[in-house]
Amino acid sequence: MYCPKCKAEYREGYTHCTECGCPLTDTPPSSEESLQSHPEPAFLCDAANEFEADIIVSKLAAEGIRAFKRYRGADSYNRILLGRTILGVEILVAADDFEEAQNILSPFGHSETDK
Ligand SMILES: [Zn+2]
Repeated sequence: MYCPKCKAEYREGYTHCTECGCPLTDTPPSSEESLQSHPEPAFLCDAANEFEADIIVSKLAAEGIRAFKRYRGADSYNRILLGRTILGVEILVAADDFEEAQNILSPFGHSETDK
């Protein structure tokens, strides 16, 4: 059994996650499924480039928030011509995590939430 939210694995017999109280499912959560369960990720911020985007994503991941990178203009000819996007990278998070993610990225919010 698996918690769809925190991805914890439980033995047979558990019905709810002891961490978050979510009903458990018997299929392992995959990243694609959890993305689909949040069909409208919220736009969080822009990153100037992929390097910066990776920093933001890993910062959020350290706080347990899944963030997604979306390449601005990735579908356009720009990407093909230049070999890489120079149009910036959008950082998206699940709508549920949006406020928390903002707090983490904001220097003021972060110092407040620091323990
Ligand atoms: Zn859970």
